[in-house]
Amino acid sequence: MTALGFRRRPVTLMYHAFSVGKAAHDPYDLHVDVAAFEDQLLRLRAAGWKALDLDGYLGWRPGDQPGFLVTIDDGFQSAVDLALPVLARLGVPSLMMLPAGLLGSTTTWLEEQPDAPILSADVVPDLAAARMEVGGHGWDHQDMRTLSAAGLVQHTTGVAERLRELTGGGAPRSFAYPFGWHDTAARAQVRAAGYTIGFSVYDDADAYAISRCDVKPDDTWATLRWKLVPGYRRLWRAAGAVKPLRSGLRRMTQRG
Ligand SMILES: [Zn+2]
Repeated sequence: MTALGFRRRPVTLMYHAFSVGKAAHDPYDLHVDVAAFEDQLLRLRAAGWKALDLDGYLGWRPGDQPGFLVTIDDGFQSAVDLALPVLARLGVPSLMMLPAGLLGSTTTWLEEQPDAPILSADVVPDLAAARMEVGGHGWDHQDMRTLSAAGLVQHTTGVAERLRELTGGGAPRSFAYPFGWHDTAARAQVRAAGYTIGFSVYDDADAYAISRCDVKPDDTWATLRWKLVPGYRRLWRAAGAVKPLRSGLRRMTQRG
């Protein structure tokens, strides 16, 4: 891999659901072909990136071997059925961000796909065997900017208590904001609830809003590699102001 550049922190990859081949119904572009997923993990490793668990992520310092952290949001059953065996086989650790109040239910917040199954509570204790650490993703996947103070507590502390009950281990350390949306109150509450780290999607604030690389079903190794270049998003936004630049960038990313 070229253009690793200087990194302040490891890359965090964000996945959601998985499919075998292209998903038949994927209105939100959430289902990554599990073969592509495996290929991405293998290529990252072959390119010199180390698969990190949360301890490795938190302990990483600039100058260390480049690292990546796999995060999977929402607890889709397809992540357990398809991605987890791949992660276990390759020995790649991951974080599974769970809407604790929807375990065993479905993706009720997705208007055009409300019936996708979410893993059930009795599966949660087994995830650790595949080095999959659970984190919080709100109680039932609401926009945290809209919640009352009591709601924020339920969606952070309530989630931590429920997950701790299920794992029988320590409190969850990581939190991902539903839809990636957060504000000062949400970040403060995630911190107050005892989480160590919070993940957003596109914007960075502090240790409680760390942006992630959103891996999409149509990403190829070439497009993903570009997304991992430090400053890619800034470059992309800047290119948006100049149409030919953006199409030039797109052409570059589509090259092998
Ligand atoms: Zn989500």
